Amino acid sequence: MPHLDPEQLSLLALYDDWEDPAAREHLLACPECAADYAALRRTVEAVKTTPDTSRLSVPGPQVWEGIHRGLGLGESVREDPLAVEASNEAAAGQDGAGPATTDAPKDVPPSDVIPLGSRTKGAKTKGTRAKAAWWQRPGTWLAAAAAAVLVVFGAVWALSRPPQPRELAAAQLAPLAQYSAAGSAKVVAAADGSRSLEVSLDKDEAKGYQEVWLIAPDLSKLVSLGVMNSTSGTFQVPAGLDISQYPLVDVSDEPMDGNPAHSTVSIARGTLTS
Ligand SMILES: [Zn+2]
Repeated sequence: MPHLDPEQLSLLALYDDWEDPAAREHLLACPECAADYAALRRTVEAVKTTPDTSRLSVPGPQVWEGIHRGLGLGESVREDPLAVEASNEAAAGQDGAGPATTDAPKDVPPSDVIPLGSRTKGAKTKGTRAKAAWWQRPGTWLAAAAAAVLVVFGAVWALSRPPQPRELAAAQLAPLAQYSAAGSAKVVAAADGSRSLEVSLDKDEAKGYQEVWLIAPDLSKLVSLGVMNSTSGTFQVPAGLDISQYPLVDVSDEPMDGNPAHSTVSIARGTLTS
């Protein structure tokens, strides 16, 4: 079975009772998908828990704007929920209770205080509960959790399975007689499978010009990868070339004589190991 796709993982993480036995079985067998799933579960747990806002400072409206935009939420929840809360309290204050700091309402019997989680302060009256802010309703948090899961999943997916260049082999380049330039080389594979050799030396000591080669261990066969006019360069490796047959990276000093063969004068050399 192939890896689970983002939608499957999200549904499994969101709903404990989501029925997809094959996918749940895959989670048990596949550490990669299990790790993605665990990350999603942490997010779901974090978002499903209605936070205790009484101990948090109230963020400005731009914070909600950012969340709203980032999650692509609908028009019905465009209003900053915390601004709604603040204006409710301000309205209560106008009844003579003072500016939104009272712990107990003055003109409402205790039985009328609506226990909304920890938010019992402020002069709530009957009917407030029916108009509880949207973010105090569990369904909203589940929807927000779903949206957050998708956002986080995108990030997890991008981080854990990137089409990055893969290093196939590397070599330290040491100077040969008469030279002191040293450096390194590595073969990397791009996402499309094409390979390139990245060469870097600490100086350019060529009297003519530098040419980069891949050479067989017994020096009997060699492939020119190109000219390097500065202290570093990236060269395409011919498709199908078995680099284990040509493991020597060689930078030569080539005279400007029009002869395409190796000058036999090498500046630096090293052996690729994977
Ligand atoms: Zn998997």
